[in-house]
Formats: sequence, structure tokens, C-alpha cells
Amino acid sequence: MLDKPYCSATLIINRRIKFSQLVNPQNSFYLLKMKRLLLPFYLAITCCLSCHRPKVVYIQPLGHVEESTMNLVKAAVEKFYHYKCIVKPELSSTNDILADSKTRYEANRILSKFNSNENTLILTEQDIAVVNPERHSKEWGIFGLGYQPGTTCVVSVFRLKQNASIALFHDRLIKVCLHEIGHNFGLPHCTSGDTRCLMRDAKGSIKEVDQAQVFLCPQCRKQLCSGSGICL
Ligand SMILES: [Zn+2]
Ligand SMILES: [Zn+2]
Repeated sequence: MLDKPYCSATLIINRRIKFSQLVNPQNSFYLLKMKRLLLPFYLAITCCLSCHRPKVVYIQPLGHVEESTMNLVKAAVEKFYHYKCIVKPELSSTNDILADSKTRYEANRILSKFNSNENTLILTEQDIAVVNPERHSKEWGIFGLGYQPGTTCVVSVFRLKQNASIALFHDRLIKVCLHEIGHNFGLPHCTSGDTRCLMRDAKGSIKEVDQAQVFLCPQCRKQLCSGSGICL
């Protein structure tokens, strides 16, 4: 039994199993030895695949998004998570992702439609909402939503721009994008009580977003490192 994975197939060389013994079906240890022989290959391949998975977050504009907005997010994600960001060509907003009110888009429908197996941050200038039974609201406008864990999240600039200077809007946008990507990387809402931590639950309040900083508390940082291997 191998007690830890490794990224090299070279250990197979040290195994003292003759091929002629392995291919002899009369050998009572035939299957067992085949398993032992193949296991390192299997571990090496799976380990190498995970070790060399490209650290990329794709930015997917949904509808028109200002280039300066995407460049800002790209730079912030690359600086904070040390992942390369690649901006994808714009996708059209379609009626099937509209919320029931037809006045804005439904975030769960967006995630469901565009869920990707690659890390993807969907950016839109359209307003987005979710149905929130807890608040007895048919639709609840939100800043962003992300699978936790997962690979896809969506952020709308619509509410972040309201009553904000350019500087304040940019500050909000960066924090919300890093927050939703944090969910994709497996982080739940922060429970440390550190008001600076960007993984705090904003509960739909822009004041909470403004109170946070571009900062992960030690608890969230530790969880990100142990859970996803992203050690900042
Ligand atoms: Zn935290
Ligand atoms: Zn959240």
C-alpha cells in the first residue's frame, strides 16, 4: 500500500517482479502482482494531471462588459490568487436566463447554463437576482453567486456601480469577484469575526462589501491552503 502519492513513475523500476511471472496465469499471485504493478502508473498519471492542471481563471463576459472592467478584474485575480486570467469572447444574454420578472437575469440559471469544468468567472453589466424564500422575496437582487466548491461563478457590476465613485466601484468589484472565486475554491462564508475578511457574508448589503478589504483572514487563508492547495 502506498502511503503517499507521487509524481514520478520511476519507482516502478525498483519493483522486483519478473514479467514472465506476471503473465503466467498459473501463478497464484498473478492478479495481485498486476495490480501492484499498475497502481504506481495510475497514481503517477492522476497525480501529474492534478499537479500540472493549469492555474487559470477564465473571465467570461456575458453581454457587453467594458474592457477596463475586465482588465481590472483580471489584474486583481492574478495578483491575489496567483492564477493566470484569460478573457474569453463575449457571450450573448438570452431570454432563457431571465428571471421570472423578465426585468433581470437569474443567477442560478446563468450558472446552470454556463457551468464550466474550467475555472470561470462570468461578468455581466446586467442586474442579476435569485429567488430567496427566506426573505419572502420573489426575487432578490445580488452582487454575485458562485458554486462552493465548483468552477463557475457570476458577478454583476450593476449594483456595485450604484452611488459609487469609480474608485469605490472598482474596490467593490474586486472584492466581490475574489469572494465568488473563493467559493469556487471551496471557501464557505467566513466565521472568524474579522470584518476585514472578503469571505464574510455580505447578506446583500453593500455596506458589508464596503467594510471588507482585499484581505483573507488567517482562518480562511489556512482553509484555502489545506482544502485547495492555494497557499497565499
Ligand atoms: Zn475569513
Ligand atoms: Zn458568498
